[in-house]
Amino acid sequence: MRREGPAAKEMTPDQLQARERVLKAMTGQEYAIDSLTACICDSTSFVPIASRDRHALPVSTAICTSCGLLVQTPRFTAASLETFYNSDYRALYSSPANDTPEKLFAAQMEHGVIVYARLAEVVHDFSPGSVLDVGCGAGGVLQKFKEHGWQVMGSEIDSELAAYANGRGIPVIPHPITGTAFDSQRFSLVIITDALEHVRDPLVLLSKAHRLLEPGGHVYVKVPGLRHMAERPYPELIRELQLAHLYYWDLLLLQYLFAKAGFTMVAGTDEIKAVFKKSSKSIPLPDVSGHYQTTLSFLQTSDANRVLLFLRNNIALMLRHPISFLRTARYFATHSLK
Ligand SMILES: [Zn+2]
Repeated sequence: MRREGPAAKEMTPDQLQARERVLKAMTGQEYAIDSLTACICDSTSFVPIASRDRHALPVSTAICTSCGLLVQTPRFTAASLETFYNSDYRALYSSPANDTPEKLFAAQMEHGVIVYARLAEVVHDFSPGSVLDVGCGAGGVLQKFKEHGWQVMGSEIDSELAAYANGRGIPVIPHPITGTAFDSQRFSLVIITDALEHVRDPLVLLSKAHRLLEPGGHVYVKVPGLRHMAERPYPELIRELQLAHLYYWDLLLLQYLFAKAGFTMVAGTDEIKAVFKKSSKSIPLPDVSGHYQTTLSFLQTSDANRVLLFLRNNIALMLRHPISFLRTARYFATHSLK
């Protein structure tokens, strides 16, 4: 497992400090790990594809040889994950745009406008009800729903953020929904944005969301879409990989997961922003046979394009400053997945 080398993403001094702390905790086994036993498709066969993440942390990513889902394995145990979110996560991923609860709240309010508009567009007879935001952060998305007359409730395991949201009059419980803290309530909508990729067992989470929803209730979900990578200026898998993400979804596999939990898709994009509806019947699973090969080809094409893109972007540098070019090329090579 490689532990050296620069990060594929630029990091602030605070992030670099957090990265050093996390690296020390990982190598000193302060953070305990375990392996994923089975894929969402029940296969137990995984092939490793990367040993580092975007921050050059020793993170192992593998692909399921049956459905093509990308997973992090081994990964932090449930207890280590909880410690990670309460002590290191925010420092490692903070940006000047969201490094305080206030700024995060403001950014989430803007996001809330997008979520609300999308739901109003695709859900028939969309009208105020009760909403639960899973991993609600500072509560900004819920604030938007409150302004539209909704009953709001959040779940957030970062206790500082939960306390901040409560201070702003957004009721947030600092526990995951998979426990019993929300069991006495029912919701017409569950929002899961930038959260599903972080949990160890997404099927358990969605099954719980299904139980907490009223009949015919909806889920709005946002996760980074693997296929959307192709739209980025630098479509490199290594830039997508991160310690905090335990799964990398594409729309088909997300549909498969939701079908297993009893949801049909109402609308969805590759980005991924999607809306699912609770069904009381069992849903036929989408056909994912052959998806391993499709995903593997997609990743191989991205990797080949990456070399072409690098040469095209650096041709002037190569001609004018060959030494700088060589330095950049060496840096580039350390980001290779192989
Ligand atoms: Zn699988």
